[in-house]
Amino acid sequence: MRKLTPLAALAALGVVLTGCGGGPTPPDSARASAVAPATGATGVTGPSAGATPTPPVPTLAPGPGGLTAVFERGTAAAGKVVALTFDADMTAGQGPRAARGERFDNPGLIEALRTLKVPSTVFMTGRWAEEYPDQARAIGGDPLFEVGNHSYSHYAFASPCYSLPPVGEGRMLQDVQRAFAVFEKVGVRHTAPYFRFPGGCYDDTALRALAPAKVTAVQWDVVSGDAFAADADAVAAQVLAGVRPGSLVVLHCTRSAAPVTEEAVRRIVPELRARGYRFVKVSELMRAR
Ligand SMILES: [Zn+2]
Repeated sequence: MRKLTPLAALAALGVVLTGCGGGPTPPDSARASAVAPATGATGVTGPSAGATPTPPVPTLAPGPGGLTAVFERGTAAAGKVVALTFDADMTAGQGPRAARGERFDNPGLIEALRTLKVPSTVFMTGRWAEEYPDQARAIGGDPLFEVGNHSYSHYAFASPCYSLPPVGEGRMLQDVQRAFAVFEKVGVRHTAPYFRFPGGCYDDTALRALAPAKVTAVQWDVVSGDAFAADADAVAAQVLAGVRPGSLVVLHCTRSAAPVTEEAVRRIVPELRARGYRFVKVSELMRAR
């Protein structure tokens, strides 16, 4: 279950009140959460960087006590923008299943996003990038996408968390750093210092443990329900009913566990565009106000 701590609520409020220039001066409490240049980004420049300067990837300043900040959605003031995010799940123990032919990737979904020209954020596990290095490199080299960190092993950072085994407080930081190391090893270029907790499960202990990683935790306000779904229409309907200006939607890029996501996306995208929405990456949602 997702645990929204008071700190997370504060962090979300900080986002509402801060942004890039203009508007009234935020109060001190909000200024403390002001968007700051990323320090952990390793690939903020893309192939077109020579022609068009790429702005730094924004992050949220740590909350009280240095805890990792949590971003849940953009502000309504950002207008009709929405961020679709795709979790590329694979646990450390699923290697044998992949070896037997089970597909944890979803190339058709990535191609659909390219064809539909939907900028989006992929939260990749290190284990997934190891299993599919060519795809990880291609996604991470495409300016359409940015790659966030979804842990190395897809274990739980707070318990209980569905049926995920706990990573353990002492290994949380190492697990996240291991995923970033895999991204670098396989050549994922457009990484962002964003972390999505497996299952969305976290508490203050986890936020404290990850502070040295200097990431912003990214949750969501719209659950697509695509995990283990069999009905693309139902997934699309749930997303379309939930999206508001500034929404952040969680979906999956793992065919074995989310087989209808591509089909759902093909319905969601034209409908939201017809309603006047524009698709953005999490970084743009965090930057916008
Ligand atoms: Zn996941």
